[in-house]
Amino acid sequence: MSAVPENAPDHCPGTDSDAAGKADACQGCPNQSICSVLPKGPDPAVEEIKQKLKNVKHKVLVLSGKGGVGKSTFTAHLAHALGAHENSQIGVLDVDICGPSLPRIMGVDGETVHQSGSGWSPVYVTDNVSMMSVGFLLGSPEDAVIWRGAKKSGLIKQFLRDVDWEDLDFLVVDTPPGTSDEHLSLVQFLDGAGIDGAIIVTTPQEVALADVRKEISFCRKVSLPVVGVVENMGDFICPHCHKSSTIFPPTSGGAVKMAESQGVNFLGTLPLDPRIARCCDEGKNFIEELDGTPAVVAFKDIVNKIVDFCVTAKKNREQETGESMMEI
Ligand code: SF4
Repeated sequence: MSAVPENAPDHCPGTDSDAAGKADACQGCPNQSICSVLPKGPDPAVEEIKQKLKNVKHKVLVLSGKGGVGKSTFTAHLAHALGAHENSQIGVLDVDICGPSLPRIMGVDGETVHQSGSGWSPVYVTDNVSMMSVGFLLGSPEDAVIWRGAKKSGLIKQFLRDVDWEDLDFLVVDTPPGTSDEHLSLVQFLDGAGIDGAIIVTTPQEVALADVRKEISFCRKVSLPVVGVVENMGDFICPHCHKSSTIFPPTSGGAVKMAESQGVNFLGTLPLDPRIARCCDEGKNFIEELDGTPAVVAFKDIVNKIVDFCVTAKKNREQETGESMMEI
């Protein structure tokens, strides 16, 4: 992978260089704390993680340029939708270390992680959807996590290497907004195991789309394929009269136009439906609760496109490596 992050200064020596974190260019760089401790040269954890995740067929990251666009809601319900398929096994990894909201959204806040002989056991949300989050390791949901890059990187390594994920069809990873230590760590640690791609969640306003362009640029710099862009909080469709109203006007053409100009897939728009927020507050699955609504119809269509992309990505990996993986 290319190893010059989007937010690095001009003369960045590269995050895998021996000088990473120590070069003159690194002084004042926001990534210095993590670059100075990340192992240089081949990190043995990359191979360990590759072995640990060898029975995980698909790995996808969920990104957003900004906070508050519904990324964690999307992640949780992507897992629920994938878990609705018969015999599927889905894992969710929450690496939004400073703002872990997935336990609440998935209705498992207050659960704790158990240690077994083969590692940390993830928390089961349903019979076939399991999850790991820093939220399970905190004494209270109100506890603030104030960690520097090195500690975050260490926890992400543990989540990937030491959690007993077993055989999964999909591992869906929720990341913090923007491009930060967590993203770099994920891309580096999953270098051997392979990532199918990144899904980028946004809202229609230009202020959110501007940050999505940076997110796409990050993906390109670290050679992370972009599955596509999801536009959340599209038009509000009244559940009573079914009339549509635009709440957040797409002043610059919205995510469709932005995706077209950036050469990435546009996966679809999710309408604004306040019942989704209520389901998330109550830890309920809106795909089941609001079945048949425009939001759920649009969501399922987006999930089908993501599955198609990942199946194709897996086939391409098999052809490149000559390895044959089990079919989904
Ligand atoms: S700290 Fe890391 S990202 Fe920043 S300039 Fe140095 S090597 Fe590049």
